[in-house]
Amino acid sequence: MTELLVVALLGLLVLTAVAFPLIAGVSRYRDWTAFEADLQRYRDAVAAGTVCPRCRAANKSGSHFCTECGHELTGSQAGNAE
Ligand SMILES: [Zn+2]
Repeated sequence: MTELLVVALLGLLVLTAVAFPLIAGVSRYRDWTAFEADLQRYRDAVAAGTVCPRCRAANKSGSHFCTECGHELTGSQAGNAE
């Protein structure tokens, strides 16, 4: 009987761990304009080549380092020589 309770509790724990980020992710955009603004920010960063290769943060064009993690950005602004 206690085994069943442990299994039920573990199931609930796993379900919460999976569901919480999903709910948090959805509520990140409360309205469409916030989503559009974020999307535009990413489009600009992709065009400028300033999307961080490590954490995928969208940085302003002309940035040489990521504002989120400090990783060096090697986008079109810095030159694509490899
Ligand atoms: Zn980064």
